Formats: sequence, structure tokens, C-alpha cells
Amino acid sequence: MPAILDLALRPEERHNDSLLRQKAAQQTGLRPDQIAHIEILKSSLDARSREPVFRLRVAVYGPTSVFSPEPALLGGFVPVDGRKGRVIIVGAGPAGYFAALELLEQGILPIVLDRGKDAQTRRRDLRAIQQFGEVNPHSNYCFGEGGAGTYSDGKLYTRSAKRGDLRKALRLLVEHGAKSDILTEAHPHIGSNKLPGVVQNIRETILHYGGEVHFGQLVTDFILNDGRITGVVSQDVSPENTGASTREWPADAVILATGHSARDIYRLLHARGIRIEAKPFALGVRVEHPQSLVDGVQYRQSPRNEHLPAASYSLVCQVQERGVFSFCMCPGGLIVPAATAPGEIVTNGMSMSRRDSPFANSGVVVAVEPEDLMNWKKHGVFAHLEFQAAVERRMFEAGDGSQKAPALRLPDFVSGRLSADLPASSYIPGLFPAPLHEMLPPFIYKRLRDGLAQFGKMMRGYYTSEAVVVGTESRTSSPVRIPRNPDTLMHPEVVGLYPCGEGAGYAGGILSAAMDGQRVAQGVYSFLK
Ligand SMILES: Cc1cc2nc3c(=O)[nH]c(=O)nc-3n(C[C@H](O)[C@H](O)[C@H](O)COP(=O)(O)OP(=O)(O)OC[C@H]3O[C@@H](n4cnc5c(N)ncnc54)[C@H](O)[C@@H]3O)c2cc1C
Repeated sequence: MPAILDLALRPEERHNDSLLRQKAAQQTGLRPDQIAHIEILKSSLDARSREPVFRLRVAVYGPTSVFSPEPALLGGFVPVDGRKGRVIIVGAGPAGYFAALELLEQGILPIVLDRGKDAQTRRRDLRAIQQFGEVNPHSNYCFGEGGAGTYSDGKLYTRSAKRGDLRKALRLLVEHGAKSDILTEAHPHIGSNKLPGVVQNIRETILHYGGEVHFGQLVTDFILNDGRITGVVSQDVSPENTGASTREWPADAVILATGHSARDIYRLLHARGIRIEAKPFALGVRVEHPQSLVDGVQYRQSPRNEHLPAASYSLVCQVQERGVFSFCMCPGGLIVPAATAPGEIVTNGMSMSRRDSPFANSGVVVAVEPEDLMNWKKHGVFAHLEFQAAVERRMFEAGDGSQKAPALRLPDFVSGRLSADLPASSYIPGLFPAPLHEMLPPFIYKRLRDGLAQFGKMMRGYYTSEAVVVGTESRTSSPVRIPRNPDTLMHPEVVGLYPCGEGAGYAGGILSAAMDGQRVAQGVYSFLK
């Protein structure tokens, strides 16, 4: 049996293998050369003490204990031929791709359709949004291979770890090119420069074992027969296709994993009489600080030790019995334009694996509940979605027709006055001073105002005119839920239809969407066997 040790390492010691060996030797009484292997089981950064330390739990294998690595999950995959079932997966985001991997493992043929482009080609459309303000409705920060997760911060922690096989999802990411550290770190992330490669490797696995992936396929209809879905219809929206050719895709089951921005899919479901429901969500702003300021507060040192990661924060408070909370914090990251259609401003955050930009941003959002939107009731199940869309349009209409975003310095936002100028920001399309206090719905603004003022008391240095508040962070989660039976995971009224991932209302992030994809695929397996 290996010896299990808890070690505290200074930042500069964290990646020094010979020092780790020496420390492990001291604690076990072995000589360093007697240690056959050290396996890191857990690693976290403890910044509470005066000097930040990394706390590691390790398994030390001496001369008599044998380390045997876990066999690769992909080693158990065999090619599929469709005889056990043929399943259409709409959406190549984390939910769709992990559903495809799980189906392959069960011997079922997955056929993935996505409206967007492969991860590499998609980059050109991201550049067009950033530089020219042109939003392609099929290829943007939310749509395309890997979904909203590809050009993101790639944070891989989730509050819904018990809702699926977290370790399996992480191991599959590692087997497709992510660093193995994500298996042990308390707050793992991958970064936008690495994620596209991982996503493309997952596609290669799907193709290698007999699955299919088709880009530029916008699903526009469902084939329904006597309360059962037997396929989908897609329109070819790829740039090579000049006509609007449509194609039918027959299926034994359909997994719908289209993400929280596929408004056309919600409209389609409603038009075809398939029940959907309005769902509470959250809306607010992005707030950006200089990273050095956050480092100074969290580590009590600025510049930070070069071996420490860019510092982050997580803040939450109550205003009028409603939570105001920071969300999707991106240390050393960028604010990005995440609109999915022309005529709207939507912001989100991303970072590279090194998290080395001079800015730290996070969403700061307020929960939106049905009682907040009584005036929107006339829109029925689309009440929340219409409200969300109206706020995004308002932000756009205040600008010059580009993806420039309205913004205020933090104290000006709280005081309700226009900023004379704005601090430097990571947001490439640019910011302009605008009365966000008048542009945001009053109940949202008031809660944000009070919440941000409280954050200033909770985190020294947070409330500063060096911080900028940007409108708007509106796509935190889906404003619509597609119901499903909690046991079979199938839509209660449509046999063979499996709502999945964030767009259906069952996930809120990369890992939870991936795990939901795995669970749903297991549901499909039980249905088809
Ligand atoms: C910029 C940014 C940064 C983020 N950072 C993080 C982070 O650091 N950590 C984290 O956990 N989460 C992050 N998120 C959220 C995370 O990406 C999502 O929660 C996750 O991707 C949801 O997965 P999904 O598979 O359910 O849906 P999505 O990833 O949204 O994928 C849906 C897919 O469906 C396709 N699609 C939509 N409609 C159709 C149609 N009609 N026909 C065919 N295909 C269609 C889309 O093209 C898309 O590829 C971020 C999101 C953004 C936008």
C-alpha cells in the first residue's frame, strides 16, 4: 500500500519534482531513491495564510508497493455499426460530444449535427465579431464545434458533481489532450488556447469508432409520428452551400443538446406542440478590475509571486431577499462579445491556459424569478426569453451598430451617474460610457447597485474607479426548460426525444453539461436495448 501524505509547498516548490521527492522521503523515512512513484491525489492553493501555500495530498509508492495507472477509458471502445441503434445528437457542445462518447461506449451509433463550424474554422468568425462587429448567427462564441465551452475560460468545476460521473468526464478530457492536473486540482481549468485541440480530438474519436459529425447543419424541424420522434430535418447553412438544401435524418432517438442560446429551437418546440416551460435565470453585468489589484488583495503581494496563478474571487450577498453573486470569474482573462445574432450585446469571459492578461473579470448577476416579470406574462413560456432579448437589444441600440458595449466606472454605476471616461479594458470591440443605471431594468439595477456596494465592503479594493461595469451578462443559464421524465430522462410527451445539457435547463457549465450528456446517453441506451 502506498503511504498517503499531506504536504505544504511554497509556490516555487510546487512543480519541483526532486524537492517533492525529498519531502516525501523525509515524511516516510525512505531514501529518495527508494521512492518508485509519487501520485498527486489532490492539490489546492491556500491563500489564507500570510504566505500562500499549495496543499497536496500524495500517495508515495516505496520499493514494496506497486503503482498501476488506471486503464484508459478509450481502451474499452469498439467500432459501432448502427445495429444497436442510431441516435441523432443536435449540438456539438460538451453535452452533445460527451453523449456521443457515451453512446459509442454502449455500442450505439451517434450522428452529431451542429449549425456551426469545426473549432478551427470557427476562429475566423470570432475574429469578425471582435474586429468588425459582424455576428454570424451560426458561428460565434456560443455556436460551433465544442459549443460555448470551446473559446471560454475552460473552468472545470461544478456544484453538481453528484449528478453524474465527474471523474469519468475529467478522465475523458485528459485522454483527449487536457493536462492530467485537471484530475487533482481543486479549481482546474483548461483555457481557450488548449480547448479547441481537446474538442477536435473528441471528434476524431467519434469518427474513428464509426460515429458521424456534420457541421453547418441547422436543425429546423422534427419528424414526429404518433407522439414519437423518428428524426430531424436540417438545413445546410455551411458557407460552401449556396442553396438552402434540406435533409432528413432518420433516428431511433434524438438528443437535443442545443445550448441556452438556440432560441429558434425553443420556438420550434413550441410551434410543434412540444411542451417547454419558462425557467428562472440570472442577468447582470460583467465587472473588470486590473488583475494586479485582485492579486494584491488576495495574496497581499503585488506583483504576485511568478509561481502563483492569477488570483480570483467569489462574492455573494443578499439584496431584498435575492442573491447577487459573482459568476464565471476569469482571472487573467478577457471579456468577449458572446452575441449569437446581429442587433444584440451579450458579454461573457474567457482566458488562455496561462491566464496572463492584465485583467480580471467576472459576471455579477441577479436571480430573475417569474414574479419579477409580471409585465412580460403575455409572452407565455417565452416571457423570460423575451425579457432577456429586450435587455440585450437595448444595450446594442445605445451604441453605434458595432459590438462596442455600454459601460461605467464602478463607483459611477453605483451612484447612478455617467462616467466622463473609462479605464482600459480587455474587451476588444471597445466600450463607451452609457447610463447603464437607466438602461438596465430598474429591479435589476437596484439589486446590482446594492450588491456591488456590499461587495466593496466584503473585498478590500474591489470598489474602485479602476473597475469597469459592462452591459450585459445575460446568458448565464437558459430562460427556458424543456421538461423530461426524471427517471427515463425522456420528454414526458414525446417518445425518443431527450432534452439535454444547458439549453434544456439541466446543466450550467462545461462539466455539468458533459455529465448530463453522459447520463442522457445512458437513458437512451436503456430505451433502445
Ligand atoms: C465565452 C464563454 C465562456 C464560458 N466559460 C465557461 C467556463 O469557464 N466554465 C464553464 O463551466 N462554463 C463556461 N461557459 C458556459 C459553458 O460553455 C456552457 O455551460 C456549456 O458549453 C453548455 O454546454 P451544452 O453542450 O449544453 O451547450 P452549448 O455548449 O451551448 O452547445 C450547443 C451547441 O448546439 C448547437 N446548436 C444550437 N442550435 C442548433 C440547431 N438548431 N441545429 C444544430 N445545432 C445547433 C450550437 O452550435 C452549439 O455548438 C462559458 C460560456 C461562454 C459563452
